[in-house]
Amino acid sequence: MSDVIKLLPDAVANQIAAGEVIQRPASAVKELLENAIDAGADHIRLIIKDGGKTLIQVVDNGAGMTEADAKLCFERHATSKITRATDLFAIHTMGFRGEALASIAAISKVALKTRTSDDEVGTQVLVEASALQSQGPCPCQPGTNISVKNLFYNTPARRNFLKSENVEKRHILAEFQRIAIARPDISFQFYQNDQLTHQLNKGNLKQRITGLFGSNYNQRLIPVEEETQLLAINGYAAKPEYSKKTRGEQFFFVNKRFIRSHYLNHAVEQAFEELIPEDAFPGFFLFLETDPEQIDVNVHPTKTEIKFQDERFVYQVIKSAVKRSLGKHNVSPTLDFEQESAFDDIITDKNRPVRPPGIQVNPDYNPFQQEKGMAPGGKTLTGRINPGQWEQLFPGAEEVHEITGHQGGKQTIISPDWEERKQDNGQKKFFQLHNRFILTPVKSGMMVIDQQRAHERVLFERYMDNIASKSATSQQLLFPENIRLNEQETEILKEIIEDIRSLGFEINPLGKCSFVINAIPAGISEDSSLQECVEGIVENIQKNRIELKHDKQTNVVRSLAKRLAVKHGKALTEEEMSTLADSLFACGAPEYSPAGKPVLTIISTEELSERFK
Ligand code: ADP
Ligand code: MG
Repeated sequence: MSDVIKLLPDAVANQIAAGEVIQRPASAVKELLENAIDAGADHIRLIIKDGGKTLIQVVDNGAGMTEADAKLCFERHATSKITRATDLFAIHTMGFRGEALASIAAISKVALKTRTSDDEVGTQVLVEASALQSQGPCPCQPGTNISVKNLFYNTPARRNFLKSENVEKRHILAEFQRIAIARPDISFQFYQNDQLTHQLNKGNLKQRITGLFGSNYNQRLIPVEEETQLLAINGYAAKPEYSKKTRGEQFFFVNKRFIRSHYLNHAVEQAFEELIPEDAFPGFFLFLETDPEQIDVNVHPTKTEIKFQDERFVYQVIKSAVKRSLGKHNVSPTLDFEQESAFDDIITDKNRPVRPPGIQVNPDYNPFQQEKGMAPGGKTLTGRINPGQWEQLFPGAEEVHEITGHQGGKQTIISPDWEERKQDNGQKKFFQLHNRFILTPVKSGMMVIDQQRAHERVLFERYMDNIASKSATSQQLLFPENIRLNEQETEILKEIIEDIRSLGFEINPLGKCSFVINAIPAGISEDSSLQECVEGIVENIQKNRIELKHDKQTNVVRSLAKRLAVKHGKALTEEEMSTLADSLFACGAPEYSPAGKPVLTIISTEELSERFK
């Protein structure tokens, strides 16, 4: 048999290796920005088209390259940053592997123009799929201007794997943010499809954060500072009330390099423990400075993972630093942990009873036929209760009442006659347990209703109906309100804006990341913080998008319902509980929350008797 092993040609080897370093346009953006930073630039321009698929260009005013280097930089393992293996343990630059440009050039068409300040003329190099196309002198500014066109053009499988422009843009924005936050001493301009979307001037960290996320972050942040012999920490944490339902705004930097570490995130989350609800995540922008010898950045090809020699020590320092700064800034742990901070002012006037929506149902509604609003998989608690047959749970409460609704139209209200029943024997019919469950006697025993899930179901169905019948009613605001979101939130809001409008919001873009709200769905208090309400919806969308694959509209409605529903921890009057139960059983699928979780359960009298044996 003849020899079969051959060395792969460089171009093929590069293409294979490229997959490891460049997964999507955002990875190329990261590498190019890092190179500009390593070159000592203090002004960097990032230009992308079509989510980076057709063009990624980075222009810097850094050191530039000589003619020879301009050609060499596309070779694998060509780096100016380390020369000996021992240098690996003392890395001060962002890059060091000498792989990025070789990888990028293997899978795209690259045009490089570069000049050092010592040279009179610059050099231009064109490379396609690792092959040098041309090289020659060219006039240009000192610094480097590199364009990456048609990424993955020669690796169709990878190109097909790319997501929509919006998704790729979001990834790029995330990389841009990380780098921009890490280096407030560098000014950045970011152009997307020929539009300048970010102009970030040099400044301090706080200015950089507000430049990226909006000036309302000014009041949200508290400084964190701590210095030990091995490690210094500084930066900001967001006050507990601004915690989010997703991990979006958690930024750790080690020696100015963004890193991901569940372990270190956990340290901060521990410091926030008992200050925020269990399912919320604190926001933070924390910088760790340590001797490069203490860390190993070489564990992951894209360099977002890092190893500390003494992780546990780092964990403790972070946790106590954050805790101390929360204490110092009077963020006392006296909040009501069960409550979500934003909900109280969302619901109508605090002293008014929670008024779950009028229970307006279609008179032709057939309670036995459920199509919409069903729990996922169409499950019902067969043999337990029959939606729409709520009154039959009660002895002698079968009437269906007809009343004239306040809008003049005739509506049918299905409801047990509570008033009469209350007078029956003067007994209370609803009890609240731990401000969380509603207990009520039913024919077969005791029904326990989760108040939050019940209200979510009620609101969900009402909004779905409103959309279906195009009957969402709005209330005009006396004073239109402006809200401001961060970049990612803005992208998401723009995607769902039609759905939000169909709910009764009159909302329009006003500049880059601002929106003006002229009207809100009837039933939301005018005093509500609309900023927080919209942020909450967007956040839920972000979260659901990851976890569930509902259609956009259902997601929006679910999010709004979740946002506005009465929460655990809220004391309800008997009347409120009764109205909520009424509304719940006018729903198509009262047994399940919009997320498919059980809303209620019945403990039968027999089960109870069993326990007393
Ligand atoms: P690494 O950054 O790991 O060294 P790269 O492939 O990213 O590897 O870059 C290879 C080399 O090209 C760098 O070490 C640097 O000398 C040079 N280089 C790349 N980008 C720039 C730039 N924007 N300005 C100056 N030199 C650059
Ligand atoms: Mg590099």
